[in-house]
Amino acid sequence: MNSTFAIVGAGQAGGWAAKTLRDEGFEGRVVVIGEEPYAPHERPPLSKEVLVGDAEKEACLLWPPETLTDAGIELRLSERVASIDPAGHALTLEGGETLEWTKLLLATGGSARTLDIPGSGLDGIFTLRTIADTEAIRPRLADGAAVLIVGAGWIGLEVAAAARKRNAGVVVIEAADRVCARALTPEMSEWVLGLHQRHGVDIRLGESIVRFEGDGRVRTAVLGDGSEVPCDVAVIGIGLVPNTGLAAAAGLEIDNGIVTDEHGRTSHPDIYAAGDVTNHPNPVLGRRVRLESWENAQNQAINTAKAMLGNATPYAEIPWFWSDQYDANIQLMGLPESWDETAIRGSREEGSFIEFYLAGGRLQGAAAVNNPRDLRFTRRLMMADRTYDAAALADPDVRLQKLLRS
Ligand SMILES: Cc1cc2nc3c(=O)[nH]c(=O)nc-3n(C[C@H](O)[C@H](O)[C@H](O)COP(=O)(O)OP(=O)(O)OC[C@H]3O[C@@H](n4cnc5c(N)ncnc54)[C@H](O)[C@@H]3O)c2cc1C
Repeated sequence: MNSTFAIVGAGQAGGWAAKTLRDEGFEGRVVVIGEEPYAPHERPPLSKEVLVGDAEKEACLLWPPETLTDAGIELRLSERVASIDPAGHALTLEGGETLEWTKLLLATGGSARTLDIPGSGLDGIFTLRTIADTEAIRPRLADGAAVLIVGAGWIGLEVAAAARKRNAGVVVIEAADRVCARALTPEMSEWVLGLHQRHGVDIRLGESIVRFEGDGRVRTAVLGDGSEVPCDVAVIGIGLVPNTGLAAAAGLEIDNGIVTDEHGRTSHPDIYAAGDVTNHPNPVLGRRVRLESWENAQNQAINTAKAMLGNATPYAEIPWFWSDQYDANIQLMGLPESWDETAIRGSREEGSFIEFYLAGGRLQGAAAVNNPRDLRFTRRLMMADRTYDAAALADPDVRLQKLLRS
């Protein structure tokens, strides 16, 4: 068979798709083109152990580099795809080289959103998405450094925790009135806020930055109320912009990401997409989602690679996400939109608990701190398609397994 399957993006989704094509017995040509200089890698360690200095960037590699090349996968690293020609089944690299493909997977991920205010070009101001970003920020988080973080989302809060571990002073500026407002319930936001305050982070809610000032290097952030925050380094963590440019220019359907069906197929029958860049239907939730999560990048890519080989099954998983901050492992199951009851099992004060969110007795999702076991079991409780008694969910003497049988 002379097929060529090309993959744009050598991040987590691109890597898993390439590996799956081979694992599933595809014998044609597999070419992975990635603009970063690294073999397929994942990003969670970049705001955790690699940023703290407890691990090196190699901890991010999905496999030793030879795993893919030994499997006959061609890695074209430090190369950027400039355009796609869907009708001609071809793509063009930035250097001008053209590659013909039989099927194409777009795993282009996203880019960190930047803050376009006066002074944002000063030295010492960063975003965090790539290995290069972490390598640039890490030496600046020295003992006693004044670190300013813009945005109390997951990246901002993980950087805050890493900076505190390096003994830097940390101020977090957040425009919303609570932390992680997009992902957490108000009660969980409150708990996470307390966690950071206990670790000495100064979190200022309902505030925004209007400009940075400095002498080539950033020295001060000026807030909307006119107050000034001294800083040696600033990390902007205000979200992600999906990298849809290539797909849009090729005429593919875009709507907050590349629009795919439940098999990862885009509006062109031979072009697929996976990972952070996709807006895909989730049959379990009954709505479209664009996820920015490690598990989705891996599992959607595996599912999509199989679909590219003609083994299509709908990608239907309950979203799962985790974050590590200080000694707290925070995990979320589902994307609850509304609920009328909350059941808390465990102790918020002792930092080991799970909150279940129910609507009409149906489990919409859960959030857990240092309780990965119950959180994992929540997936089964949700898949069971039945109602639960909130008091039983909250009762630590009632085993969750028993609820499935009752
Ligand atoms: C610092 C950090 C910490 C995280 N921590 C967690 C966590 O704790 N838990 C969790 O669930 N999730 C976490 N995530 C999210 C998770 O890492 C992402 O969901 C995942 O990386 C998405 O993978 P992806 O392959 O879709 O995209 P990416 O990893 O962004 O990979 C896309 C790749 O495509 C390349 N590319 C784009 N356009 C082109 C082009 N034209 N030509 C060639 N190459 C191109 C990009 O350079 C990039 O290398 C974290 C993310 C970050 C940044």
